[in-house]
Order: sequence, then structure tokens, then C-alpha cells
Amino acid sequence: MSILRLAVPGPLRQLFDYLPPPDTSEEVLSALTPGQRVQVPFGRRELTAYLVEVAAHSHLPAGELRQAAAILDSRPLLPATLVQLCEWAARYYHHPAGEVFNAAFPQALRAGKPHRPSGEAGWRLTRRGRGLPRGALARSPRQAEALAMLQAAASLPASLVKERGIGSAVLRSLEKKQLVERCQVPPPPRTGTSRGGPQPNREQAAVIAALLAAPPGFGCHLLEGVTGSGKTEVYLRVIEHCLQAGRQALVLIPEIGLTPQTLARFTRRFDADIAVLHSGLGDAERLRAWERARDGSAQIVIGTRSAAFTPLHKPGLIIVDEEHDASYKQQDGFRYSARDVAVKRGQLEACPVLLGSATPSLESIHNALVGRYQLHRLQQRAGGAALPTMATLDVRRQELVAGLSRALLDAIEHALRANQQVLLFLNRRGYAPTLQCHDCGWVAQCTSCDARMTVHRRQRRLRCHHCGASRQLPESCPQCHSRHLLTAGLGTEQAEEVLRERFSQWPVHRVDSDSMQGRQAMSELVDEVNRGEPAILLGTQMLTKGHHFPAVGLVAVIDADAMLFSADFRGEERMAQLLTQVAGRAGRAGTPGRVILQTHYPDHPAIQAMLVADYAEQARGMLARRQATGMPPFGYLLVLRSDCRDPREGEDFLQALRERAAPELPGGISLIGPLPSPLQRRAGMFRFQLLALASERATLQAGAAVLVASVAGMRARRDLKWTIDIDPQDLF
Ligand code: ADP
Ligand code: ZN
Ligand code: ZN
Repeated sequence: MSILRLAVPGPLRQLFDYLPPPDTSEEVLSALTPGQRVQVPFGRRELTAYLVEVAAHSHLPAGELRQAAAILDSRPLLPATLVQLCEWAARYYHHPAGEVFNAAFPQALRAGKPHRPSGEAGWRLTRRGRGLPRGALARSPRQAEALAMLQAAASLPASLVKERGIGSAVLRSLEKKQLVERCQVPPPPRTGTSRGGPQPNREQAAVIAALLAAPPGFGCHLLEGVTGSGKTEVYLRVIEHCLQAGRQALVLIPEIGLTPQTLARFTRRFDADIAVLHSGLGDAERLRAWERARDGSAQIVIGTRSAAFTPLHKPGLIIVDEEHDASYKQQDGFRYSARDVAVKRGQLEACPVLLGSATPSLESIHNALVGRYQLHRLQQRAGGAALPTMATLDVRRQELVAGLSRALLDAIEHALRANQQVLLFLNRRGYAPTLQCHDCGWVAQCTSCDARMTVHRRQRRLRCHHCGASRQLPESCPQCHSRHLLTAGLGTEQAEEVLRERFSQWPVHRVDSDSMQGRQAMSELVDEVNRGEPAILLGTQMLTKGHHFPAVGLVAVIDADAMLFSADFRGEERMAQLLTQVAGRAGRAGTPGRVILQTHYPDHPAIQAMLVADYAEQARGMLARRQATGMPPFGYLLVLRSDCRDPREGEDFLQALRERAAPELPGGISLIGPLPSPLQRRAGMFRFQLLALASERATLQAGAAVLVASVAGMRARRDLKWTIDIDPQDLF
């Protein structure tokens, strides 16, 4: 008996056994392979599930097994390695396997739609047809002609056959005789050759040589290269070799906004079919790109986070650019790290993985220092540009206009007059983070979160940046009806207003998620800025991610103190990464750039470190401090979170869980909590967290399994939601 063991999308962390559909032929049964989609009745619904295993026995009695409704694919759509990757991820992240498999499929296939191979509709010979000798079917000249054509090619597009004068009646008669069949004809392959590019400098050449000399198979490499050191150039060179070997390269990038630039650079370099996968695609586009990756017609696949699960026909190389970027971690639902999944994938696919960053995560640096990853460094900028010089600007007792000191305003003017571009970093969008009544002290709070609402003056709205709630900007105080409302604090919208007034001869571009709406906005702005005319760029994190703005001569961080007092254990790491990345936008072409940090704490160690040490050196200091706390990468961490409308319930739930799991937890795990999350109420839910820390990964994994199993046996209020987050990025 064949039992189908299936991953069924849904909240349950288990596989489900089904019998094959009633009329399944022996042939289909014997060909069953993990990765095939199966339609199944589940409760009162029908779902698309994924075959994980064909088993001989089920622990359920045969009478209780339901029958699957249909086997949707005659062959698995995922290669065996990707099935293994999904199973691994389900186990490692303690997430329902069906949901993990969903991440590997585009929407249409998740919904059970038939799979259609890419390419053009066409014709090819059947096995029987291939058995015919040349010159066969001589009695029917049209059929003989068609046969001869198909004997000369593996397959032909229907349009071409028609063009050559073969009507569809002829093909249909051949089809009836089972001599020809319909098929999809793949597009003619591209050569995959590279169009040159700059001569690698000495450092780059050494890294490229080391990468190419690595033994075949899996190996993980960390490329730690200062901003503008030519990391992308290194990627392009190793991809070139990968394509020459007839293999595909998968390139992960952190931001959808970077895809146009990355794609343009890759298209210029390679005569290759490049598939792009990101969340901004329509379902049909995404399906087509996925299919080209799967069937191997795309030689290069560029994508954001979820592309880590794209099937590849012949993977040869996986690159994760800006590997430190927090956006590689999915923060809801299936909480995986695309970087870590990519490394595991390289292991399963037996291909090298290259992680690159100017500011690698402490995890990856640690892995390199202990020899798990091979470390490669680029310490100079490519093409002779100098690294920018950094200085603090002490703003204590200085007059500030929209957060800008006189000295900074002068420096901006000076740079603009010297025909340079200026980049100003302010990591807060909106006009101001607080609206307050001058008469009674009322403050605009979000009704669903423990947070203030941000003033968005242009849209005349108050918005909560935590839950998305918004309401009209009040004209008067709802408490005392005074019309004397004040804003406090600074956002990009306000800074933009002041800058436009003060520097009216020059364009001011604001770059944040409010101003950059729509798919084209960012690439249009990048094109505009890359024309090189003097201008001010003012923006949030969005500005700092990988973009090249060669004409920027001055970078200023308007509020370098904003991140100084973070409670998160990654706070100092994040700050050093962000400031280094911001600074890295300066001075990329010719003129050495300047970076100014406005601060009230010029003597703070984290600010001082920015001035005297590069990121690599700072990172090694931070690692030593991290080691003292036992936090990752020196320990392994998970967070179990509860969300509930009732403020007590979530805490009680986690406390009960802690007590229930405690006797079964392996030694070497410490539990912390339950504690209220730093932002305790969000979107009307009260949030608590229970942390578990262990010095060994295996111990943490065993502990996670105990915790998840314990929850399964607990009764909780219907409106209580719990989640488990392995290797959490932020504790919030
Ligand atoms: P990164 O990815 O490290 O930020 P890039 O690869 O984008 O760096 O390179 C930064 C700039 O230097 C780009 O404009 C690139 O074309 C140029 N560049 C890279 N390598 C070289 C080289 N060997 N010679 C000249 N210019 C180079
Ligand atoms: Zn008031
Ligand atoms: Zn809110």
C-alpha cells in the first residue's frame, strides 16, 4: 500500500497521511516523488498539499485515512534538494511544513492551478515517431515533410511549423497516429558570456582567484569589502565562471528598490537570460520568472528574500549581497532568515555560497574567524576613489533649524556651490513624531498601540508607524479645544520643507517610503541623481542600501544620537552598520567625500569608534563584548511571543508554558521571561515574550521542540496568538 505523507498548508506542525486518489494507475503510483503537488480534502475544504514521502504504513488505521482528490503533477516541480531544504526549514524554524513549501511556489501553483512549462507551444516526435526511419510516410507527402522537419530538431514552435507551410490538419493526423505530440519549446539559449568589465585590481584579483581555487562543492565565503571596494565586480567575475560551467547563479539582494540597478548592471555585463523575483511582481510575471529559474533557461536569478526558495535546474553559485541586512529575516508568519537558508541550500546543492557586505553581521564575522567560512577582504576602494573622512559636529547649545545646525547648513551650501551632491540621513519619516497641545499637554497617541502618532502634514493626517492606523490631523485639541497645537521632534517632511526654503536654487529629493511610492519611483530618482547635477538627497534607511550616488561629496547624519541608547542587544552593531553604510555613499568618484555626524554626545564610545576605527575593527571589539553576554553568535536564541487582547492572558499563558515545559527541557537552556515586549501594546494586542538561550545550537533546537510540543497540549483563549522565532533579529 502506498501512503502519501503530505505537507498541508495550515497552522498544524505535522504531516498528514492520505491514500492515493481512487483511480490512480500503477504507473503513476510507482512514479510518485516528493515535491509533487496533491489536491486533498481537508476539513470541509480542498487544499493543495505537497508530497514529502511515500510511506508503506501509516500510524492511522486504514479506515481513517482519507483519499487524496488528485495528483496534480506527473513529475515533481521541485528538485529533491529543494524538497530537502523545505523539510529542513520546517524543522529548524519549527514552522508548519505546508507553509514552508508554499514559500517555494508561486501563487498560481499554490492555488492548485496546472503547471505549464515555459516557452512557446510547439510540436515534437513521440517515442514512436522517433522510431520511424528517414523518408518514412512517403505516401503522404505533407506528413512526410512534417516528419522530416521534426526529425531535424528536438522540437519546433507551432508558429514556425505553420510558417513552413504545414497546416494543423496534417499535424493532427500525425498526432492521431501517435507520431507527434504537443510540447513547450524553450527559447533559444543565450550564450551566458560576459562582456568584459574593468580589469580587477590587485585585491579583487586575489579574491577572485581564491574563490575560483576553492575545492568544488559546498563552501561558504564571506567577502568583507569596504563600501565601493568592488564587491559587485567580484560577484560578476565569479558568476561569469559559473555560467561558463553551464550552471545557474542565484543572487539575493535585500531590497526590491535595488533590483533595477542590479538588473541593469548584470544585463550590461552578460549575454544571459536573467530572471528577477521580488514581491513587487504580478502573479503571472512571478510565475514566469520562477519557471525560467526552475527549467534552467534563466542563467542568473536575482531576487529578494523569498527567492532563496526558488527551484533551480543546475545551481552553481549562491550570492547573498549585503548579507547583514535585517530585511533578509522575515518578521511574520514563516520567520526564516534568507541568508541562513541560502547557506543551508548551498550545502544541499553542493555549491559555493558567497556572502558579501561592507558591514557583515557579527554572526558571519564570527563564522569566518572560527574557520567555518572562508574570509576574503577588500580594504580599498576600487578605481582609486578614497574613503570619506568622518567628523563629529557637536550640536550642544547650537541653534538648530529643523535639526540642522548653522555649521551644517554652511557645509551643505559649500558642497552645493562646489557642484557636489549632498546626502542627508534622517531615519524618521513624516513631519514630526509628536503632536502636543500647548495649553493642556495632551499628546496624540495611537488608540491601539503604546505609541505616539506621527504628524504627516502634507497629507494632513496622523499616522501610527506601528500598526498603520491613521486619522485626520486635528485642528484643535480634543481635550481642551485649544487651537494651539505644537509638533515636537523632527521627520523628513519637516527637514525637506526647511531645506527647500533655504536652498531654493537646488533640487531637494526626499527619499522615504512615503515619497517613493510606486515601482518606478526609486529607479527614476536614481537616474535623476546619477546625472550628477548638484542637489540635496534627504532620506531614511532607504537611501543607504547599496545605491551608488557617485556625485555625493558630503554626507551628514542629522541625528546620530537616535540609535545610541537602543535596548536591543544588536543596537551597537546596527548603529555601526547603518552609519558606515550611510558614510559609504560619499566620495565614490574622484573627490574624497566628507561625512558629518551631528551629535550631542561627541565623546560617546560608539560615536568615537566611528571616527577612529573602520567597521571591521569595530566589529571585532563588539564581538568581544557580545561574547561576555553569551548572546548570538556566542549563544543561540529563540523568542516565543504571545499576542492577546487581554493584558493578563498572554503573560499567564507564557508562564504556564514555562512551567509545563521546564521539566522536559534539556540542560543548558536558560529561559528569560515572560516579559512584556518593549512596545507592549500594538494594534490592540498585548505582547509578551519568553526567551530561551543556549550555548549550543542543538540544545536550543531540542528546547524549541519541547516548547512547541508543550504549547500543543495547552488550551489557550481563542484570541491568543503565539509564535516562535528562531534566531530572532530584534527583540520587540
Ligand atoms: P561595491 O559592490 O563594493 O559597493 P562595486 O562593485 O559596485 O562596489 O564598485 C564600486 C565602483 O567601482 C563601481 O562604479 C564599479 O564600476 C567600480 N569598479 C569596481 N571594480 C573596479 C576596477 N577593478 N576598476 C575600476 N573600477 C572599478
Ligand atoms: Zn489641550
Ligand atoms: Zn498604532
